[in-house]
Amino acid sequence: MDRVRVLCRVRPTTAEEQTRGERVVAIQGAQRLRLQNAAEYVGEHEASWAFDAAYDTDASQAQVYESIQPITQDVLRGFHATVFAYGQTGAGKTHSMFGPPDCSLDGPDAGVVPRLLKDLFAGLTAGDEVRVSCLELYDDLRDLLNEEHRPLKLRENRKDGSVVVDGAVDAVVKDVPATLALLERALVRRVVASHEMNADSSRSHFVASFRVTRPSINASAIMRLVDLAGSERVAKTKATGGTLNEAKRINSSLSALGNVIAALTSSTATHVPYRDSKLTRLLQSSLGGNAKTALLVCVSASSLHAEETVSTLRFGVRAKRVRNAAKVNVDVDDDLLAARLELAALRAERDDAV
Ligand code: ADP
Ligand code: MG
Repeated sequence: MDRVRVLCRVRPTTAEEQTRGERVVAIQGAQRLRLQNAAEYVGEHEASWAFDAAYDTDASQAQVYESIQPITQDVLRGFHATVFAYGQTGAGKTHSMFGPPDCSLDGPDAGVVPRLLKDLFAGLTAGDEVRVSCLELYDDLRDLLNEEHRPLKLRENRKDGSVVVDGAVDAVVKDVPATLALLERALVRRVVASHEMNADSSRSHFVASFRVTRPSINASAIMRLVDLAGSERVAKTKATGGTLNEAKRINSSLSALGNVIAALTSSTATHVPYRDSKLTRLLQSSLGGNAKTALLVCVSASSLHAEETVSTLRFGVRAKRVRNAAKVNVDVDDDLLAARLELAALRAERDDAV
Protein backbone atom coordinates (compact mmCIF):
# COMPACT_ATOMS: atom_id res chain seq x y z
CA MET A 1 0.00 0.00 0.00
CA ASP A 2 1.12 3.55 -0.67
CA ARG A 3 0.50 6.25 1.86
CA VAL A 4 -0.62 9.67 0.72
CA ARG A 5 2.41 11.80 1.56
CA VAL A 6 1.54 15.13 3.17
CA LEU A 7 3.82 18.15 3.24
CA CYS A 8 3.05 21.39 5.01
CA ARG A 9 4.33 24.86 4.12
CA VAL A 10 3.99 28.04 6.17
CA ARG A 11 4.07 31.13 4.01
CA PRO A 12 5.85 34.37 5.04
CA THR A 13 3.85 36.76 7.21
CA THR A 14 2.34 39.74 5.43
CA ALA A 15 2.62 43.37 6.64
CA GLU A 16 -1.02 43.27 7.74
CA GLU A 17 -0.47 40.09 9.72
CA GLN A 18 2.52 41.69 11.42
CA THR A 19 0.65 44.78 12.54
CA ARG A 20 -2.74 43.27 13.37
CA GLY A 21 -1.79 39.83 14.63
CA GLU A 22 1.02 37.75 16.02
CA ARG A 23 2.78 34.64 14.87
CA VAL A 24 1.18 31.57 16.43
CA VAL A 25 2.46 28.73 14.24
CA ALA A 26 5.95 27.39 14.93
CA ILE A 27 7.87 24.62 13.22
CA GLN A 28 9.51 21.99 15.39
CA GLY A 29 12.17 19.88 13.72
CA ALA A 30 11.62 18.93 10.12
CA GLN A 31 8.12 17.50 10.38
CA ARG A 32 6.02 19.08 13.08
CA LEU A 33 3.94 22.25 13.45
CA ARG A 34 2.95 23.62 16.81
CA LEU A 35 0.25 26.16 17.55
CA GLN A 36 1.02 28.63 20.33
CA ASN A 37 -1.83 29.64 22.65
CA ALA A 38 -3.57 26.65 21.17
CA ALA A 39 -6.20 26.61 23.91
CA GLU A 40 -7.76 29.68 22.31
CA TYR A 41 -8.50 27.75 19.15
CA VAL A 42 -8.49 24.01 19.87
CA GLY A 43 -8.39 21.57 22.75
CA GLU A 44 -4.98 21.48 24.50
CA HIS A 45 -4.46 17.90 23.35
CA GLU A 46 -4.44 19.14 19.77
CA ALA A 47 -1.63 21.68 19.70
CA SER A 48 0.70 19.97 17.28
CA TRP A 49 0.49 18.19 13.94
CA ALA A 50 3.07 15.93 12.25
CA PHE A 51 3.60 15.65 8.50
CA ASP A 52 6.05 13.97 6.15
CA ALA A 53 7.81 17.34 5.93
CA ALA A 54 7.15 20.79 7.36
CA TYR A 55 8.54 23.90 5.68
CA ASP A 56 8.95 27.22 7.46
CA THR A 57 8.49 30.69 5.97
CA ASP A 58 12.08 30.82 4.68
CA ALA A 59 11.95 27.55 2.72
CA SER A 60 12.80 27.96 -0.95
CA GLN A 61 10.80 26.66 -3.89
CA ALA A 62 13.65 24.23 -4.54
CA GLN A 63 13.49 22.83 -0.99
CA VAL A 64 9.76 22.23 -1.17
CA TYR A 65 10.21 20.54 -4.52
CA GLU A 66 12.72 18.04 -3.08
CA SER A 67 9.89 16.22 -1.29
CA ILE A 68 7.78 16.05 -4.43
CA GLN A 69 10.42 15.22 -7.00
CA PRO A 70 10.18 11.39 -6.59
CA ILE A 71 6.79 11.69 -8.31
CA THR A 72 8.54 12.15 -11.67
CA GLN A 73 10.38 8.85 -11.27
CA ASP A 74 7.07 7.17 -10.40
CA VAL A 75 5.39 8.56 -13.52
CA LEU A 76 8.34 7.57 -15.70
CA ARG A 77 7.99 4.01 -14.36
CA GLY A 78 4.30 3.94 -15.30
CA PHE A 79 2.56 4.86 -12.03
CA HIS A 80 -0.25 7.41 -11.98
CA ALA A 81 0.66 10.26 -9.66
CA THR A 82 -1.12 13.28 -8.22
CA VAL A 83 0.09 16.37 -6.41
CA PHE A 84 -2.47 18.66 -4.91
CA ALA A 85 -2.32 21.90 -2.95
CA TYR A 86 -4.85 22.63 -0.21
CA GLY A 87 -5.35 25.67 2.02
CA GLN A 88 -7.23 28.91 2.49
CA THR A 89 -7.01 31.69 -0.09
CA GLY A 90 -3.71 33.53 0.21
CA ALA A 91 -1.96 30.65 1.99
CA GLY A 92 0.47 30.03 -0.86
CA LYS A 93 -1.06 27.24 -2.98
CA THR A 94 -0.58 28.88 -6.37
CA HIS A 95 2.81 30.27 -5.30
CA SER A 96 3.97 26.79 -4.34
CA MET A 97 2.52 25.04 -7.38
CA PHE A 98 3.47 27.57 -10.06
CA GLY A 99 5.34 30.53 -8.56
CA PRO A 100 4.54 34.13 -7.59
CA PRO A 101 2.20 36.14 -9.84
CA ASP A 102 3.69 36.86 -13.26
CA CYS A 103 6.87 34.94 -12.51
CA SER A 104 8.59 33.09 -15.30
CA LEU A 105 7.79 29.40 -14.98
CA ASP A 106 11.36 28.96 -16.13
CA GLY A 107 13.10 31.00 -13.40
CA PRO A 108 14.35 30.43 -9.81
CA ASP A 109 10.93 31.30 -8.32
CA ALA A 110 9.24 28.61 -10.36
CA GLY A 111 7.08 26.28 -8.32
CA VAL A 112 6.54 22.55 -8.15
CA VAL A 113 4.73 22.15 -11.49
CA PRO A 114 7.41 23.54 -13.84
CA ARG A 115 10.07 21.70 -11.86
CA LEU A 116 8.21 18.40 -12.19
CA LEU A 117 7.85 18.97 -15.91
CA LYS A 118 11.58 19.58 -16.35
CA ASP A 119 12.46 16.36 -14.58
CA LEU A 120 9.74 14.47 -16.39
CA PHE A 121 10.91 15.53 -19.85
CA ALA A 122 14.54 14.86 -18.88
CA GLY A 123 13.62 11.24 -18.18
CA LEU A 124 11.78 10.53 -21.45
CA THR A 125 13.26 8.45 -24.23
CA ALA A 126 12.64 8.37 -27.99
CA GLY A 127 9.06 7.48 -28.91
CA ASP A 128 7.54 8.64 -25.64
CA GLU A 129 4.58 11.02 -25.84
CA VAL A 130 3.19 13.61 -23.41
CA ARG A 131 -0.32 15.01 -23.72
CA VAL A 132 -1.60 17.81 -21.55
CA SER A 133 -5.05 19.00 -20.59
CA CYS A 134 -5.90 21.91 -18.27
CA LEU A 135 -9.27 22.13 -16.60
CA GLU A 136 -10.95 24.52 -14.29
CA LEU A 137 -13.76 23.49 -11.99
CA TYR A 138 -16.26 25.86 -10.42
CA ASP A 139 -19.72 24.38 -10.47
CA ASP A 140 -18.96 23.49 -14.07
CA LEU A 141 -15.90 21.86 -15.53
CA ARG A 142 -14.23 24.00 -18.19
CA ASP A 143 -11.39 23.56 -20.62
CA LEU A 144 -8.62 26.13 -20.19
CA LEU A 145 -6.96 25.07 -23.43
CA ASN A 146 -10.03 25.91 -25.46
CA GLU A 147 -11.06 29.46 -26.37
CA GLU A 148 -14.73 28.50 -26.28
CA HIS A 149 -14.46 27.60 -22.62
CA ARG A 150 -17.59 25.48 -22.82
CA PRO A 151 -18.70 23.15 -19.99
CA LEU A 152 -17.40 19.59 -20.16
CA LYS A 153 -18.91 16.31 -19.02
CA LEU A 154 -17.36 13.52 -17.04
CA ARG A 155 -17.78 9.97 -18.22
CA GLU A 156 -16.76 6.61 -16.86
CA ASN A 157 -14.44 4.48 -18.95
CA ARG A 158 -16.20 1.09 -19.08
CA LYS A 159 -12.93 -0.80 -19.49
CA ASP A 160 -11.26 0.13 -16.24
CA GLY A 161 -13.78 2.32 -14.41
CA SER A 162 -11.54 5.38 -14.68
CA VAL A 163 -13.14 8.79 -15.10
CA VAL A 164 -12.69 10.49 -18.45
CA VAL A 165 -13.32 14.13 -19.31
CA ASP A 166 -15.24 14.19 -22.58
CA GLY A 167 -14.10 16.62 -25.24
CA ALA A 168 -11.27 18.32 -23.36
CA VAL A 169 -8.31 19.42 -25.46
CA ASP A 170 -5.52 16.92 -25.00
CA ALA A 171 -2.53 18.63 -26.61
CA VAL A 172 0.64 16.78 -27.53
CA VAL A 173 3.63 18.68 -26.13
CA LYS A 174 7.15 18.11 -27.35
CA ASP A 175 9.31 19.82 -24.77
CA VAL A 176 9.40 21.85 -21.54
CA PRO A 177 9.15 25.36 -23.10
CA ALA A 178 6.09 24.39 -25.15
CA THR A 179 4.44 22.85 -22.11
CA LEU A 180 5.16 25.87 -19.91
CA ALA A 181 3.81 28.22 -22.60
CA LEU A 182 0.59 26.22 -22.68
CA LEU A 183 0.31 26.24 -18.89
CA GLU A 184 0.93 29.99 -18.74
CA ARG A 185 -1.92 30.54 -21.20
CA ALA A 186 -4.19 28.30 -19.15
CA LEU A 187 -3.36 30.16 -15.93
CA VAL A 188 -4.14 33.52 -17.54
CA ARG A 189 -7.40 32.13 -18.90
CA ARG A 190 -8.29 30.87 -15.43
CA VAL A 191 -8.19 34.44 -14.14
CA VAL A 192 -9.84 36.02 -17.20
CA ALA A 193 -12.63 33.47 -17.25
CA SER A 194 -13.40 34.02 -13.59
CA HIS A 195 -13.68 37.76 -14.20
CA GLU A 196 -16.06 37.15 -17.09
CA MET A 197 -18.22 34.98 -14.86
CA ASN A 198 -18.02 37.66 -12.20
CA ALA A 199 -16.43 35.09 -9.93
CA ASP A 200 -13.19 34.85 -8.03
CA SER A 201 -10.51 32.50 -9.36
CA SER A 202 -9.62 31.54 -5.78
CA ARG A 203 -12.99 29.75 -5.74
CA SER A 204 -12.02 27.49 -8.63
CA HIS A 205 -9.98 24.31 -8.78
CA PHE A 206 -7.26 24.06 -11.40
CA VAL A 207 -6.42 20.59 -12.67
CA ALA A 208 -3.58 19.96 -15.12
CA SER A 209 -3.20 16.39 -16.39
CA PHE A 210 -0.19 15.00 -18.22
CA ARG A 211 -0.65 11.68 -19.93
CA VAL A 212 2.75 10.09 -20.46
CA THR A 213 2.84 7.21 -22.94
CA ARG A 214 6.06 5.22 -23.04
CA PRO A 215 6.23 2.52 -25.71
CA SER A 216 9.84 1.88 -24.61
CA ILE A 217 8.60 0.33 -21.36
CA ASN A 218 5.09 -0.53 -22.61
CA ALA A 219 3.42 1.59 -19.95
CA SER A 220 1.56 4.85 -19.66
CA ALA A 221 0.69 7.01 -16.68
CA ILE A 222 -1.15 10.18 -15.81
CA MET A 223 0.46 12.88 -13.70
CA ARG A 224 -2.24 15.11 -12.25
CA LEU A 225 -1.39 18.47 -10.67
CA VAL A 226 -4.13 20.23 -8.77
CA ASP A 227 -4.34 23.73 -7.29
CA LEU A 228 -7.52 23.55 -5.21
CA ALA A 229 -9.93 26.39 -4.48
CA GLY A 230 -9.51 28.25 -1.19
CA SER A 231 -10.68 26.05 1.67
CA GLU A 232 -12.02 28.89 3.86
CA ARG A 233 -15.64 29.31 4.64
CA VAL A 234 -16.79 32.21 2.52
CA ALA A 235 -19.55 34.71 2.93
CA LYS A 236 -21.74 34.04 -0.05
CA THR A 237 -23.87 36.96 -1.09
CA LYS A 238 -27.15 36.17 -2.77
CA ALA A 239 -29.62 38.67 -4.14
CA THR A 240 -33.11 37.50 -3.27
CA GLY A 241 -36.11 39.69 -3.93
CA GLY A 242 -34.13 42.88 -3.51
CA THR A 243 -32.60 41.88 -0.17
CA LEU A 244 -29.14 40.52 0.43
CA ASN A 245 -28.77 37.31 2.32
CA GLU A 246 -25.38 36.44 3.66
CA ALA A 247 -24.74 32.77 4.10
CA LYS A 248 -21.60 31.12 5.30
CA ARG A 249 -20.78 28.11 3.21
CA ILE A 250 -17.78 26.14 2.16
CA ASN A 251 -17.03 25.29 -1.45
CA SER A 252 -19.27 22.24 -1.94
CA SER A 253 -16.70 20.18 -3.82
CA LEU A 254 -14.19 20.75 -1.01
CA SER A 255 -16.65 19.48 1.54
CA ALA A 256 -17.17 16.45 -0.72
CA LEU A 257 -13.39 16.00 -0.74
CA GLY A 258 -13.36 16.12 3.06
CA ASN A 259 -16.17 13.53 3.18
CA VAL A 260 -14.29 11.19 0.85
CA ILE A 261 -11.18 11.39 3.02
CA ALA A 262 -13.26 10.89 6.16
CA ALA A 263 -14.85 7.76 4.67
CA LEU A 264 -11.50 6.41 3.45
CA THR A 265 -9.97 6.77 6.90
CA SER A 266 -12.94 5.62 8.94
CA SER A 267 -13.04 2.07 10.26
CA THR A 268 -16.82 1.94 9.98
CA ALA A 269 -17.72 3.66 6.68
CA THR A 270 -18.88 1.21 4.03
CA HIS A 271 -19.28 3.68 1.19
CA VAL A 272 -16.91 6.32 -0.18
CA PRO A 273 -18.97 9.18 -1.68
CA TYR A 274 -16.76 9.86 -4.71
CA ARG A 275 -19.82 10.57 -6.84
CA ASP A 276 -20.92 13.53 -4.74
CA SER A 277 -18.90 16.08 -6.72
CA LYS A 278 -16.99 16.46 -9.97
CA LEU A 279 -13.85 17.14 -7.98
CA THR A 280 -13.98 13.84 -6.09
CA ARG A 281 -14.83 11.98 -9.29
CA LEU A 282 -11.78 13.51 -10.97
CA LEU A 283 -9.58 12.67 -8.00
CA GLN A 284 -11.09 9.24 -7.37
CA SER A 285 -8.01 7.24 -8.38
CA SER A 286 -5.73 9.72 -6.58
CA LEU A 287 -7.37 9.06 -3.22
CA GLY A 288 -7.66 5.49 -2.11
CA GLY A 289 -6.98 4.23 -5.63
CA ASN A 290 -4.34 3.49 -8.22
CA ALA A 291 -1.96 6.44 -7.84
CA LYS A 292 0.94 7.81 -5.85
CA THR A 293 -0.29 10.98 -4.21
CA ALA A 294 1.34 13.92 -2.46
CA LEU A 295 -0.65 16.66 -0.75
CA LEU A 296 0.83 20.06 -0.01
CA VAL A 297 -1.06 21.90 2.71
CA CYS A 298 -0.42 25.63 2.85
CA VAL A 299 -0.99 27.79 5.92
CA SER A 300 -0.38 31.24 7.34
CA ALA A 301 1.49 31.55 10.65
CA SER A 302 -0.68 34.40 11.89
CA SER A 303 -3.19 34.52 14.73
CA LEU A 304 -5.51 36.29 12.27
CA HIS A 305 -5.97 32.99 10.42
CA ALA A 306 -5.58 30.51 13.26
CA GLU A 307 -9.00 28.93 12.83
CA GLU A 308 -8.57 28.30 9.12
CA THR A 309 -5.04 27.05 9.81
CA VAL A 310 -6.32 24.51 12.32
CA SER A 311 -8.93 23.29 9.86
CA THR A 312 -6.29 22.97 7.11
CA LEU A 313 -3.90 21.07 9.39
CA ARG A 314 -6.68 18.71 10.44
CA PHE A 315 -7.43 18.02 6.79
CA GLY A 316 -3.73 17.32 6.15
CA VAL A 317 -3.31 14.97 9.09
CA ARG A 318 -6.40 13.04 8.12
CA ALA A 319 -5.26 12.75 4.49
CA LYS A 320 -2.02 11.19 5.75
CA ARG A 321 -4.02 8.13 6.78
CA VAL A 322 -5.38 7.50 3.28
CA ARG A 323 -3.89 4.38 1.68
CA ASN A 324 -3.55 4.01 -2.08
CA ALA A 325 -2.66 0.95 -4.12
CA ALA A 326 -0.60 2.15 -7.06
CA LYS A 327 0.46 -0.22 -9.81
CA VAL A 328 2.41 0.15 -13.03
CA ASN A 329 -0.08 0.77 -15.85
CA VAL A 330 0.87 -1.62 -18.59
CA ASP A 331 -0.34 -0.70 -22.06
CA VAL A 332 -2.13 -3.61 -23.61
CA ASP A 333 -1.55 -2.70 -27.20
CA ASP A 334 -3.53 -4.91 -29.63
CA ASP A 335 -0.60 -5.20 -32.05
CA LEU A 336 1.73 -6.15 -29.27
CA LEU A 337 -0.71 -8.69 -27.93
CA ALA A 338 -1.12 -10.22 -31.41
CA ALA A 339 2.66 -10.40 -31.82
CA ARG A 340 3.02 -12.12 -28.45
CA LEU A 341 0.35 -14.69 -29.30
CA GLU A 342 2.01 -15.37 -32.64
CA LEU A 343 5.37 -15.85 -30.97
CA ALA A 344 3.83 -18.24 -28.45
CA ALA A 345 2.23 -20.22 -31.29
CA LEU A 346 5.55 -20.41 -33.19
CA ARG A 347 7.34 -21.59 -30.07
CA ALA A 348 4.72 -24.27 -29.50
CA GLU A 349 5.12 -25.43 -33.13
CA ARG A 350 8.89 -25.59 -32.77
CA ASP A 351 8.63 -27.51 -29.51
CA ASP A 352 6.24 -29.98 -31.19
CA ALA A 353 8.69 -30.45 -34.08
CA VAL A 354 11.60 -31.29 -31.77
P1 ADP B 1 -3.34 30.95 -2.76
O1 ADP B 1 -3.08 30.41 -4.13
O2 ADP B 1 -3.27 29.87 -1.71
O3 ADP B 1 -4.58 31.74 -2.68
P2 ADP B 1 -1.01 32.54 -3.31
O4 ADP B 1 -0.08 31.46 -3.72
O5 ADP B 1 -1.63 33.35 -4.38
O6 ADP B 1 -2.15 31.94 -2.37
O7 ADP B 1 -0.25 33.45 -2.26
C1 ADP B 1 -0.77 34.69 -1.78
C2 ADP B 1 0.36 35.72 -1.83
O8 ADP B 1 1.42 35.36 -0.95
C3 ADP B 1 0.95 35.87 -3.20
O9 ADP B 1 1.26 37.22 -3.43
C4 ADP B 1 2.21 35.04 -3.13
O10 ADP B 1 3.17 35.47 -4.04
C5 ADP B 1 2.63 35.21 -1.67
N1 ADP B 1 3.31 34.01 -1.19
C6 ADP B 1 2.73 32.85 -0.89
N2 ADP B 1 3.63 31.95 -0.45
C7 ADP B 1 4.82 32.55 -0.48
C8 ADP B 1 6.16 32.16 -0.15
N3 ADP B 1 6.44 30.91 0.30
N4 ADP B 1 7.14 33.06 -0.31
C9 ADP B 1 6.88 34.30 -0.75
N5 ADP B 1 5.65 34.75 -1.08
C10 ADP B 1 4.63 33.89 -0.95
MG1 MG C 1 -4.32 30.53 -5.79
